[in-house]
Amino acid sequence: MSTKAIKDISERIVKASKELRDHGLVRGTSGNISARIPGTDTFLIKPSGVRMEFLKPEKLVLVDLQGNKIGGEPSVSLETPIHAAIYRARKDVVAVVHTHAPTATAFGIAKTEILPLQIEMFMLLPRGVPVVPFELPGSKALAEAVQNKIANYDALILENHGIVTVGSTIEAACNLNEMVEEGAKIQFLAVTLAGRDAINLAELTKKFKTQNTTK
Ligand SMILES: [Zn+2]
Repeated sequence: MSTKAIKDISERIVKASKELRDHGLVRGTSGNISARIPGTDTFLIKPSGVRMEFLKPEKLVLVDLQGNKIGGEPSVSLETPIHAAIYRARKDVVAVVHTHAPTATAFGIAKTEILPLQIEMFMLLPRGVPVVPFELPGSKALAEAVQNKIANYDALILENHGIVTVGSTIEAACNLNEMVEEGAKIQFLAVTLAGRDAINLAELTKKFKTQNTTK
């Protein structure tokens, strides 16, 4: 991988980080973002204790798939074990985004999964977004719990913590993070308006599938 290509990935991570902050998905030093370096067993990740808006391309940390630091800042993000576990489990994943998106995080506190209730959510996340039971941030147990679930989902809620999304590009993983937050807001509003019993997921799924096949 050329230095220019790594510089390009670093710049895209920084741009995406600022957008996550501007869109209200992260506050303070919370959240982290990483991207695999194609053709290698390494990825670049945000250092710990840095606010997204102050992130610089040269400050990103290079780590291996076991989460060991190879180069960069003195401290890697606390959640590096989650990122490393996902890259080990999913060869197709190029980027991982972890935020404390407020509405989706509230769903995790309420132990409520986010359902594919609108067509865009159904297209992107047909199985919805499940809640991974609480484990301490940065722990091996949390990385293992995420690794087990991510095999079947592109987005997860971490109970009492935040959300994780993955993608085949940095931009796709960020977009999914925003979609999960929007899906949580819409589900909350729909349930508030109609009541939980009025929403029939099986009926909705049938409708969405019919629409897809008649296109
Ligand atoms: Zn977190």
